Order: sequence, then structure tokens, then C-alpha cells
Amino acid sequence: MLQCRTNSPAETGALAFRLGEKIPSGTVLCLEGDLGAGKTLFVQNLARALGVTEEVTSPTFNLMNVYKGRLTIYHFDLYRLETEQELEEIGFYEYTDDPAGLVVIEWPDKFPDSLPEDHIYIKIERTTGAEQERCFTFSLRGTRDGSLYKELDGICQF
Ligand code: ADP
Ligand code: MG
Repeated sequence: MLQCRTNSPAETGALAFRLGEKIPSGTVLCLEGDLGAGKTLFVQNLARALGVTEEVTSPTFNLMNVYKGRLTIYHFDLYRLETEQELEEIGFYEYTDDPAGLVVIEWPDKFPDSLPEDHIYIKIERTTGAEQERCFTFSLRGTRDGSLYKELDGICQF
């Protein structure tokens, strides 16, 4: 488990950008955090690092957006889903099995038992400090890529 703090949207953007530069294909990235924590801002900057030039918006209403960059990004928002069956209906499992893609999931905590075994889990929390301070907790779950831990450690140091 790794932790770091950011003090502004720009710092969160820089953190996400650095992760985007290093993230390997086939990764599933979960982003937990309350409304306004910074999940979508994180994905926007991650996508920019992967060469996506089109606007990245929250997929709250359409459940998933696809962006073509160095990797194809499948950006899910599970906020509005209620059942496991709905998850299956939107093809969730086909995307998480794509070794050439990058799956990013907002509100993964709605379906904790349905997440693929291997994933990066990031929890974003407001702090009791300044209004723009956020605490990021990174967990690497599963066994796929041990070297990623070192990369994440570097990404967190700034
Ligand atoms: P979410 O997708 O988690 O609901 P958004 O990324 O849409 O949240 O919005 C985050 C909001 O919080 C933005 O308006 C952003 O400017 C603001 N904000 C303030 N401080 C930070 C920070 N340190 N990191 C990320 N966002 C921040
Ligand atoms: Mg969002």
C-alpha cells in the first residue's frame, strides 16, 4: 500500500499523468472516492498521458466511454448500476478480459466482489486539511505484475 497527497487539481493531474506514462496494457484501474473527490479529473489526465486528445467526460449516464490512445481506454462509471446482471449486460467482463486495453472503473466499491482479481485500486479521500487537499491510497491487488509496485512508488514520490 502506498500513499501520497495532492494539494490542488493540477497536482492530481500531474500524478495521473505520470501513472498514464507508465501504465501497462491489460491493467484494470479502480478509482474509489466520493462525489467531487477527483476521479474523473484523474482519468482525464491519465488519458492525456496516453495520447487521447478528445474530451474525456464522466460516463455517469452512458455507463462506459471508450477512448483511443496508446491503449484503448474503457472508462466505466458503476454509480447507476444496481445488479450483477446489469454489469454483465453492459459487457463489463469482456472489457476487463481484453489484454490490449486499459479498463478504468469509477465507483468500483459498488461491486467489490465482481472486480477482476488483478487490479490497481486507488482510493481518493478528502482530508481534514485544506479544501483542495486529497489523500491517495494505492493498492496493487493480484499477482500479475510485481514490477508495477516499484513504478507506483516512483509515481507517488513528488
Ligand atoms: P469525481 O469524478 O470524483 O466525482 P471530479 O473529478 O469530477 O470528481 O471533480 C473533482 C473536483 O474537485 C473538481 O472540480 C476539481 O477542480 C476539484 N478539486 C479540488 N482539489 C482537488 C484535488 N486536489 N484533486 C482533484 N480535484 C480537486
Ligand atoms: Mg466522476
